[in-house]
Amino acid sequence: MKKSIAVYPGSFDPITLGHLDIIERGLEIFDRLIVAVARNTGKTPLFTMEERLDLARRALGTNPRLEVDTFDGLLVDYIRSRGAHVILRGLRAVSDFEYEFQVAQTNHQLDRGIETLFLMTSIPYAFLSSSVVKEVASHHGPVDSFVPPVVKKALEEKFAPENIPPKEARHDP
Ligand code: ADP
Repeated sequence: MKKSIAVYPGSFDPITLGHLDIIERGLEIFDRLIVAVARNTGKTPLFTMEERLDLARRALGTNPRLEVDTFDGLLVDYIRSRGAHVILRGLRAVSDFEYEFQVAQTNHQLDRGIETLFLMTSIPYAFLSSSVVKEVASHHGPVDSFVPPVVKKALEEKFAPENIPPKEARHDP
């Protein structure tokens, strides 16, 4: 029987409990799920590619049906190269819709054989994003209800006073 494979792409900067929820639910639907950490995010990430990959792997543990990989370039090319046909994405508020709609249309235009499937966020994570987590962590606020323990530790290290460059070394405007 043909196996259903989906790719869940994103920046995962860093991976949150909202992402983990989508992944768990995705595993209920597909035979195999590939979490694909994007190298080019269009945003300047807090965590390097290697750190984002490592945090996602450690947060997810081992599951023979789940893989964490990285991709560069066009998502549809990556999807094809992995023998997948479905892009899995999460939808939170209405504000996610416009961007996701545009990207899904473009990907479908680029390859008619690829469909984007959306899972609605679970209510506890409806307002959770990697950006919010980074904001809270940068002010040393509690992030326990937002991220798995490995990510909490990595955020604490990133924002530890000794790891923050002195103001004159930063390139802030
Ligand atoms: P991107 O930069 O591609 O949006 P993200 O890592 O921010 O990457 O998000 C990856 C996917 O996970 C997106 O589809 C996003 O909508 C979804 N997502 C992020 N946070 C949540 C959440 N709290 N609940 C449901 N989906 C989420």
